[in-house]
Amino acid sequence: MMNNSNLIQRDLATLWHPCTQMKDHEWLPLVPIKKGEGVWLEDFDGRRYIDAISSWWVNLFGHSNPRINERIKQQLDALEHVILAGFSHEPVVALSEKLVAITPPGLTRCFYTDNGSSAIEAALKMSFHYWRNQGRHEKTKFIALSNSYHGETLGALAVGDVSLYKETYAPLLMQPITVPSPDCFQREPGASWSEHSTRMFAHMEQALAQHADQVCAVIVEPLVQCAGAMRMYDPVYLKLLRQACDKYGVQLIADEIAVGFGRSGTLFACEQAGISPDFICLSKGLTGGYLPLAAVVTHDRIYQAFYDDYENLNAFLHSHSYTGNPLGCAAALATLDIFEQDDVIANNKHLAAHMGQAVAHLQDHPHVAEIRQTGMILAMEMVKDKTTREPYPWQERRGLKVYQHALQNEALLRPLGNVVYFMPPYVITPDQIDHLARVATEGIHIATQT
Ligand SMILES: *Cc1c(COP(=O)(O)O)cnc(C)c1O
Repeated sequence: MMNNSNLIQRDLATLWHPCTQMKDHEWLPLVPIKKGEGVWLEDFDGRRYIDAISSWWVNLFGHSNPRINERIKQQLDALEHVILAGFSHEPVVALSEKLVAITPPGLTRCFYTDNGSSAIEAALKMSFHYWRNQGRHEKTKFIALSNSYHGETLGALAVGDVSLYKETYAPLLMQPITVPSPDCFQREPGASWSEHSTRMFAHMEQALAQHADQVCAVIVEPLVQCAGAMRMYDPVYLKLLRQACDKYGVQLIADEIAVGFGRSGTLFACEQAGISPDFICLSKGLTGGYLPLAAVVTHDRIYQAFYDDYENLNAFLHSHSYTGNPLGCAAALATLDIFEQDDVIANNKHLAAHMGQAVAHLQDHPHVAEIRQTGMILAMEMVKDKTTREPYPWQERRGLKVYQHALQNEALLRPLGNVVYFMPPYVITPDQIDHLARVATEGIHIATQT
């Protein structure tokens, strides 16, 4: 019989887990999952957990969703994979048509990679290469926001700013121009989100005015810096950014890998600012959380800058083996069908409102500095001192206590440092949200005692 403990033993003998100090597992049990259904994950000892973080923000419509399962099974019997250079297939064509139809206006060309970081790499290279093909060889730099996260490969890591992941590798990384984030946790008392975000734009304007000649693109996570502890800002910043990028002749890369596909409350976060970026990077929810797939969608002017006689060597020669994998595309098509058929964005508004109400009482908690929410992302920030907002020392790992408490109470919560958050699959029910709110409340009490 397979149970948790023998699977853990075999695992720890041979695996190296992501984003993990493996020594922690001397005292922090791994959780081997046997099956998933809807919001539930079940381990080998029969214990269940509500997947409140959508398995690292990828799952949209529950585990083992019958509609997505069916589509993948059908595709599996037709074609599992084929090279996408020189060849094509129906799911990738259909998915490209869909993505062009649903992404912000003007984005008309889809380029595929097989994970979020590699989509960022492709967008950075495309932007740089676009300018090069225009004879603008002096454009070699990128502007990024402080506290941003764009993935872990060296190029993506370079334009990110979460020091925990980046600092060690600094000697290997290209150096972006980093501009202070419009993060509204930092706003003055009494200032609104839009006032703060507007004020913070002055830094971006200044960086563009000073460096535009050498800058290929500005890269941002629209509205929510997810890995940066779910810090949020106002759509007005994106509006100002689009205008300034146009004014200074710099491209705009929107990394919607985390916030895309409804997380922000709209299908894409850029919609809330009424803007179209020059590149939108998509992954995570793209396949409903089933398979690794990512896309960079861009517009015709950029595409045309690469379209040339072969001898001129202006083509974009970037590739990955599993580019446009048919099974991933089939999962994505099934996922997008669910958005169309079930009025997901409208229904999520009720779930989002319920999430907000369910934790509203924590506003008064002596160690909760802020509860913030953008659509289906809700975050609660624990602090040592509510008045000064002095954070708990990171070494105390208070969030981990919430994680451990949740596991004992049928929930998977995985705080980012001192920030507890919900980012659940959209099939969660109000009752299940209430359960998460209870577990989070207890967890925060336990974690902030003494
Ligand atoms: C997760 C994430 C990435 C990286 O995607 P991976 O598939 O994990 O490589 C990039 N940008 C943002 C905003 C993300 O949240």
